[in-house]
Amino acid sequence: MAEVLRVVRQQVAARADVIKMYASTGSDQDVTGFQTFTFDEIKAAADAAHGFGRKLAVHSYGPDGARDAVRAGADSIEHATDMDDQTIAEMARRGTFYVPTIDHNRYYVEHRQEFGYGEDVAAHLNDYIERNLETARRAHKAGVRFAMGSDAVFTGFGQNTRELEWFIKAGMTRAGADRCYHQWRCAAWIGEEPGSCCGRVLCGYCRGGG
Ligand SMILES: [Zn+2]
Repeated sequence: MAEVLRVVRQQVAARADVIKMYASTGSDQDVTGFQTFTFDEIKAAADAAHGFGRKLAVHSYGPDGARDAVRAGADSIEHATDMDDQTIAEMARRGTFYVPTIDHNRYYVEHRQEFGYGEDVAAHLNDYIERNLETARRAHKAGVRFAMGSDAVFTGFGQNTRELEWFIKAGMTRAGADRCYHQWRCAAWIGEEPGSCCGRVLCGYCRGGG
């Protein structure tokens, strides 16, 4: 716990605007989602970040870290699949943003030879994409707020906004996924006033992440 607080303070001292906490395994070819921080640890990070006027984004590939992060007061949940109905309802109630980052795994699959990923890795990534999309469908239907994050590796830059195509597959209207809509959503996430950001905060640029 003390270590969590030390790191949050260290990041704030380094002038970070947003704290990202890695609450489950999972990244690149690894699509496991084992929880890596407890509810109490995530809560301590959320409270500390908020105390400094910062947001807390929580990375969780799996549902357990996401469930605890939502209840701990995280401002956004990144990537998570298979979230249960209660967690999704709680996100809608609290206004927690969901940042699905579905497309970056499509990028990994298409460029698997460059990354040295075998067909077994591609199959796991495709399975993850399906579950990620299904979770996004359920979250959208439940009224959860979305923000667009690419999670793109540097070679994927330029394709970031393809994420919006997945939002449409998840049930969003094309109009709903248009740029201004997301400017508003993204701006809401980073604390800008809606409308003050047009021309400044662009979709696909407001969240990076890993
Ligand atoms: Zn992440």
